[in-house]
Amino acid sequence: MLDVAGKFPRHKLMFGPTPVEKLERLSAHLGGGVEIWAKREDCNSGLAFGGNKIRKLEYLVPEAIEQNCDTLVTIGGVQSNHTRQVAAVAAKLGMKCRLVQESWVPFNDAVYDRVGNILMSRVLGAEVELVDEGFDIGIRESWERALEDVKAKGGKPYAIPAGASDHPLGGLGFAGFADELREQEAELGFAFDYVVVCSVTGSTQAGMVVGFAADGRARKVIGIDASGTPAQTHAQILRIARNTADKVGLGTAIASDDVVLNPDYAYPAYGVPSEETNAAIRLGARLEGMMTDPVYEGKSMQGMIDLAAKGFFPPGSRILYAHLGGVPAINAYSYLYRNG
Ligand SMILES: *Cc1c(COP(=O)(O)O)cnc(C)c1O
Repeated sequence: MLDVAGKFPRHKLMFGPTPVEKLERLSAHLGGGVEIWAKREDCNSGLAFGGNKIRKLEYLVPEAIEQNCDTLVTIGGVQSNHTRQVAAVAAKLGMKCRLVQESWVPFNDAVYDRVGNILMSRVLGAEVELVDEGFDIGIRESWERALEDVKAKGGKPYAIPAGASDHPLGGLGFAGFADELREQEAELGFAFDYVVVCSVTGSTQAGMVVGFAADGRARKVIGIDASGTPAQTHAQILRIARNTADKVGLGTAIASDDVVLNPDYAYPAYGVPSEETNAAIRLGARLEGMMTDPVYEGKSMQGMIDLAAKGFFPPGSRILYAHLGGVPAINAYSYLYRNG
């Protein structure tokens, strides 16, 4: 146990530990050689449909409150799940919210900037600014300008980078995820052999790598890249994992090989699903009633199914699919799914 929750201030935003359930029909569909389970971060909170950013934000919010900040400022793509979750958290805390939404996705659905996540962010009362910059998980000038603007108007901004990742506290939430899962494994009477997780800005996988390194399972965290810039994402995961390991006092070093990131499923581009991704989304929906999205979780679902079919997981493996949320974005892709 790292006891992340016991060592760091945490502001409760989730319902509690997220459910772990077996995906019986998907496991059978894949031939029954492996067991597929899911941990449902997609239903972790009542805050505007929740998702993985809520778990991370539990560890940033105490600092925002302590510093007497009055405005959460963050950045993402037009259909960012992260910005929607920050908007909901700001509302819950009675803070203002300033969102910079960049043009990260080359997708032309007529209502792309009207529905799904951005619709909710507006309803949640955030000030939404659309900016004409392309995809990049790094620190952005437009976000820095928004921070300056809040200050110039007399506000006290709290700066949250894209995905709440490149932040000193960004990896803590998912290091704590490993503690939480270990308790659930003790109840189930077994430990999972693999965890499959989608990666883009990196602190979800980075936190898991640290959390599972505590019991020698770092390399059993199989990251599925959805950024389309896997070298940059790998480097960012490694950097965040090392910072987080220092913070929690892991006591062992994180090696580059401890970050396993599969680049094979991000095509054709960030935010654009392939036919194979869409097939995986439909399969999960039709076998399990479990929705995934075309930007993130559909790609990790596709990766998990394909790796299982290729025999990557030894027979008898128990695989945990970390469902990180993100379904609201599917509304912005209505044309693709007009026939289901
Ligand atoms: C943000 C997000 C991810 C990626 O998590 P990172 O920590 O940015 O790597 C995956 N799935 C969903 C649904 C997300 O919103």
